[in-house]
Order: sequence, then structure tokens, then C-alpha cells
Amino acid sequence: MTMSTDPIEGVEQPSDSPGTSTRYSKHIILTTYPGQSGIEPVPLEWGAADAKSRGPIVVSRSGNLLKRRNAIGAHGGSYSIYNALAIAAGDLDADFRPDLRNSEPTFNFPWQPAWADKTKIVSLDPYGHDIVNQFKQELEAGWDIRPTMAVTRANMKLAEIAEDVKNGLLEVDGSILVDSSGEVRVTKVAAEPVWYLPGVAERFGVDEGTLRRTLFEHTGGSYPELITRPDLKTFLPPIGGLTVYIFGPPERIADENVKLALRVHDECNGSDVFQSDICTCRPYLAFGIREAVREAQNGGSGVVIYFRKEGRALGEVIKYLVYNARKRGGDTADKYFTRTENIAGVRDMRFQALMPDILHWLGIKKIDRMLSMSNMKHDAIVDTGIKILERIPIPDEMIPSDSRVEIDAKIQSGYFTTGKKLTDEELTQVKGRGWEKWEDIAVSRSTLLFRRCF
Ligand SMILES: [Zn+2]
Repeated sequence: MTMSTDPIEGVEQPSDSPGTSTRYSKHIILTTYPGQSGIEPVPLEWGAADAKSRGPIVVSRSGNLLKRRNAIGAHGGSYSIYNALAIAAGDLDADFRPDLRNSEPTFNFPWQPAWADKTKIVSLDPYGHDIVNQFKQELEAGWDIRPTMAVTRANMKLAEIAEDVKNGLLEVDGSILVDSSGEVRVTKVAAEPVWYLPGVAERFGVDEGTLRRTLFEHTGGSYPELITRPDLKTFLPPIGGLTVYIFGPPERIADENVKLALRVHDECNGSDVFQSDICTCRPYLAFGIREAVREAQNGGSGVVIYFRKEGRALGEVIKYLVYNARKRGGDTADKYFTRTENIAGVRDMRFQALMPDILHWLGIKKIDRMLSMSNMKHDAIVDTGIKILERIPIPDEMIPSDSRVEIDAKIQSGYFTTGKKLTDEELTQVKGRGWEKWEDIAVSRSTLLFRRCF
């Protein structure tokens, strides 16, 4: 039975439709409904005791799988759009199946009770790394089931770690910290988002219907099954995922008898990669890695988790608009959050409510040293039953001069500190750097051009 001879719910594609391709039948299947002829989702019981009784996540619309799908959305998170482009361009067959030989994890993370708890993990597939092993038969039968997590190992090199070695803050051990160039061995876990909608709704304190309707409306109506298929409870949203960086033996993470140092870091490309000095992101990340390495060297475990939530999940365009509004409006700490609220409507869209899922997946029960000042991250973690024994702010000497505005505003709004919390009056005195020097750059450039002309 093929889709072209048995459309579920289709409309005729107009014959003069631009770019009409022979790749698809004339019928476009806009959406499906429960109880429709032939609709028979593969059973999926979120929170079941093991992968096989939970069932595979089937999201492909390819061929007969359209009727057997048990999840909404597409694989790849935000990259699902590039996947569609590759098919449109003819570079990728729409029925392509990955050859997953030798792609298995470099470390087998042991099963955790949280994997079978539908309240503890709602935003990733706890078996997403182990598809090849758990659903071998289905894969061999030609089912399109794909990993949503992957585990690998790597060496990484950080300038700050090399500096720490030079300054005597870290010692080369030849195993975790390989040499004085700052080379470190790390186990990495990448995860794409897989949402169990009833669980996500619960975390946000909304009913599932409202969540589904909002996701449908505000993605331009991209996923009609959010509305038409209340029986499908799983959604693969088109957003970025996360990466876990583990220092030291990964089996130590879930061991309550050893210490754990943890940093949960949200992406800030301008600082993390390009070392812009307007915020504390890269320094705090480097500090987090240093402390994670140190904890691992002391027989414990060090973990840094990197979430793709650029600019407090507002994105870089909004972030730069806010930078401009700050710099043109007198960049003082008392107005720091107002500038963001003026442009984005809120000060933060990171919603840490889903963040602890990965900690539960790793089997973390307590965090000895939490390398973060964020009250939102702290509360989200503690609310799900993980203890935080000590909170460690970024050391003062690591705070870049132009980021004082950010850090003081955050501390005043409730971020954790062991230092001083400024008064409202004092906050008006914390000023960021202006753009004055930029005039010099413009002058030097024109001088240069002038010289070249002669
Ligand atoms: Zn930043």
C-alpha cells in the first residue's frame, strides 16, 4: 500500500504550482487524524521501564510510515530544515536510511531510574543514544528510527587551561589534563530535543491543549498535528539541543560517593567563541572547565553542559539590538534588564524548567560544587530533587571590565553571590564602556585610505 494510491487527507496540488516536482504524488497530505483509516501509530509509552516496552520514536513521513508515526516534527532539531533543503536540492534521497554501523556510544551510560520516570525526563529521549542496540530488529526491517543522542570522546585544547597550568592553578596529570598546552581528554554527549508534551506542559504549569495550540500558532502553523493528533504525545521541536562535556571517567558522574563539579552554560557565541568582553560568558565557561578538570583530577567528576540557547534564548539579532539600546541610552546596571524587556518583551526566554532532564539522565543526585550564580538554574535543579551543596560565583578577577553592568544587574535581581549586592543608587553608577573609541577607528581607516591614494 503506498501513500499515492491511498491518501489519508489530501488536497490536489495545483497543476501550475511553481516548482512542482515529480518527487511527490499529486496529493499533499496536510495532516492526519486519529481513528482515520489505516492510522496505526507504533505504541509509545513514555516513562515505561525499558526501551522495548517504551517503544521506538517514529517520526518519518516516508511511505507507509506516515500511518505508523508516533511523534510530530522531524529529526535534527533546527537542522531538520537543512535536511529538507538537501532533499529539495536532490542531494539526498527522501527515503534515505542512515547506515549506523560503528556509530555506537564510546561509553555505555548505565540505565537510571529516571529513564523510566515520565516526570523526571520530558525533553529528551532517554534511549536516544542506544537505538541500534534496542531497536535492531526494527532497523533491519527497514524502519526509519534514528538516534537523537550520541556519545563520543575527544581531546580539546583551551588557551585558559594552558594559562592555568602556567600559573600553577592546574597540574598536568598525563591522563585527564594531557600536557601543558592545555590539552584535555573529554567524553561528549550530544542530545537533540524530544518533547513528551504532557510532561512539558506540566513543567510550565499550562494545560497540554494550550501548549499545543501555542506551538502550532507561533510556528506559523507548521505542525498541524499538534492540533489534529492529540493521541501523538511526542514532538521533536525545531530548536537547538545540548552537549555534555565530561571530564574524568564518565562512570563517576552517577556515583554519589565522589564529588561532582558542574557548570550549566547557555550559549553566547560572541563571548564563548569570539571573546567579546561585554559579558562574563567565556570567562565563566573557562572557569567551569578548569574546576571540572580539577574535580576529576581529585578523584571526582567534572561536567559542563552547553545548551544552544543563544542570548538567553532570544537570539543574536535581539541581543545586538539590546546592546545598541544599552550603549546609546547610557549603559548602567540599573537599566540593564529594562533594555532587554523593551525589545524582547521579557528579560529571559531560557526557561530552565527543562534543563535538569539531562542531569537526571546522567544519574546525578547531588551537585557538590555548582559553578553558576543563576537563581533560575539553581531553583530548577533543586525543584526536581537534586541537591546543590555549594554554589560558586565567577571569581572577581575573571570578570571583564565591560561586563560589570551585566553581573551587577544580575546580582541585584537575585543571582547568587558571595560578594556585595549593590543598592539601586549604586547600580546607576555602574556604567559600561561607550563607543567613543570607535571614532578613532573610523579616522585611522580613512587616514589609511588617504595614504594609499598617494
Ligand atoms: Zn554572554
